Amino acid sequence: MSKSPTRHISPILLTFVILAGMALAGCGAGTASEDGRLHVVATTGQIGDAVARVGGEHVHVDVLMGAGVDPHLYVASEGDVRLLQQADVLFYNGLFLEAQLADVLRQIGESKPSVALAERIDSALLLPWSDGSAESDPHVWFDVQLWKQVVEAVGDTLAEVDAAHADAYRANAATYLRELDELHAYVQERAAELPVERRVLITAHDAFHYFGRAYGFEVRGLQGISTAAEAGTADVRALADYIVQRQIPAIFIESSVPVRAVEAIQAAVAARGAAVEIGGELYSDALGDAGSEGATYAGMVRHNIDTIVDALKGEG
Ligand SMILES: [Zn+2]
Repeated sequence: MSKSPTRHISPILLTFVILAGMALAGCGAGTASEDGRLHVVATTGQIGDAVARVGGEHVHVDVLMGAGVDPHLYVASEGDVRLLQQADVLFYNGLFLEAQLADVLRQIGESKPSVALAERIDSALLLPWSDGSAESDPHVWFDVQLWKQVVEAVGDTLAEVDAAHADAYRANAATYLRELDELHAYVQERAAELPVERRVLITAHDAFHYFGRAYGFEVRGLQGISTAAEAGTADVRALADYIVQRQIPAIFIESSVPVRAVEAIQAAVAARGAAVEIGGELYSDALGDAGSEGATYAGMVRHNIDTIVDALKGEG
């Protein structure tokens, strides 16, 4: 509803726009920003928040994907391409989260520091995209401990690119990492309020496996890891059977995925003579609007665990 119309561009036009931009910029050499700050572009809000916290007053950050935007489906606009070209540094999640941006990030990233942050995480800690898959699940922000490695990579990169302010970046990162330790402890404490057999999280798409591993939840999503493939009626039926059999009290909608998928599960459960509540809306792949609890990464994490635990306790 609040989304502004975006002009999407074809890959051929994209290549032209990038080449023209590079010619104008003298082949993509980094230029000092007029305001003296390092100009950073981040793809997701979670990453933008980490950059803002670590960069502080020395960094200006533009975020491509606003509240409620699905990164799996997001396509670059001409305005995005311009921002990417003018930036000093690019940060993105990687692991194929921003599937439609892969080409533009690779092409523009050749001429400047460009970091796929989730790919900096110790690979032994990554989960597979699906059972037996060689690709990794990109939804790393749901495990606060893993996200700390992303914050560290942001700090290291900023300190390297802008050595004059390296001390400030390292100090800001240290402060934020301590806050994230407290956040992780908070999520553990709240999760522990639920008996183990009640810790079952059902959502619209398979975003929460890292959350499940870190905080002891069994996790089921109607759609797969990416929202690009629609769920079929067989998926809805299987999930509804599971909810009835396990007597699961609540399922959850996601801010970046249409509600209809989860409503279809609810209807299928009702058709079986049982009932399941919609336990609330979780921030899955995007932050919330400015001013909402989900406007920051820490707020998003807190909102999610509070919503999940309250609903599964039956106090939602
Ligand atoms: Zn996702």
